[in-house]
Amino acid sequence: MSIQGSLGTFLGVEMAKPKVGFFELSSCEGCQLQLLNNEATLLEFLSLLEVVYFREGMTEKSNDYDIAFVEGSITRDDEIERLKEIRHNAKIVVALGSCACFGGVNQLKNRFHDLEWVKKEVYGDYPISTRKAAPIADFIDIDLEIYGCPVKKEEVERIVSRLVLGKAVTHPQYPVCMECKANENICLFELGEPCLGPVTRAGCDSWCPSNRLGCWGCRGPAPAANFKQLKEIVKRYNIPVERLLDRLECFGGFQNIVTDMRGSGGKGENET
Ligand code: SF4
Ligand code: SF4
Ligand code: SF4
Repeated sequence: MSIQGSLGTFLGVEMAKPKVGFFELSSCEGCQLQLLNNEATLLEFLSLLEVVYFREGMTEKSNDYDIAFVEGSITRDDEIERLKEIRHNAKIVVALGSCACFGGVNQLKNRFHDLEWVKKEVYGDYPISTRKAAPIADFIDIDLEIYGCPVKKEEVERIVSRLVLGKAVTHPQYPVCMECKANENICLFELGEPCLGPVTRAGCDSWCPSNRLGCWGCRGPAPAANFKQLKEIVKRYNIPVERLLDRLECFGGFQNIVTDMRGSGGKGENET
């Protein structure tokens, strides 16, 4: 990657300071907000980068960037062109958050067969463009995904630092349960609450279970997630399968397993 600017020198070698842009498609902008909210380390974080586009945080705009962080999913036709333009401008494109990685909460509308009916229910006669929600990788090649709804700022900082320093970026291969156990939490199944920790990719430091909330799977499936075992756990604790499916469907990362469990039929008009 040829990147501009400078972080100064290390052992006499000039270090690169990449130009970065943060962009949003259909999203709540909560992932970008996570970064801005991190006052304790924000200045240090920004010293690694030259931010040239960040609508949520600054007014200046430039299309001259090396790394593009794209938040949100595609839910309108015009977003596809914008996304392709971002891909054209950037050397590295990072999908930021569950909406960009999996479709996120936006893809819940895909459960309905008739999107025209959904549009009418939500917007009435207001003229608005909409299409089936999809992750950005359906339209462009991406280089990296940062998971979570929202992303965890500490993890973003770690990943961005590694990117800037030219180090390999890896994600945990193990599930949230590993972090939850390390944090010495009482398992929520014991308290009657379902939890997707056994099959969800770790990296959030068991954010929800550590606050007495079951995991909803916002980071998508852990590699080699053992769904058979999860179904057995759910059965053992008498949790209705629908409660499990509600969670598996929420962010779009478990689409294959949901389709497998539900069969190929989606929901139709007036079904919820
Ligand atoms: S992933 Fe979650 S927090 Fe991030 S933009 Fe989408 S809905 Fe908002
Ligand atoms: S609460 Fe969830 S993440 Fe924690 S051990 Fe139980 S199933 Fe795993
Ligand atoms: S515990 Fe689950 S739902 Fe909560 S942040 Fe982590 S992966 Fe997302």
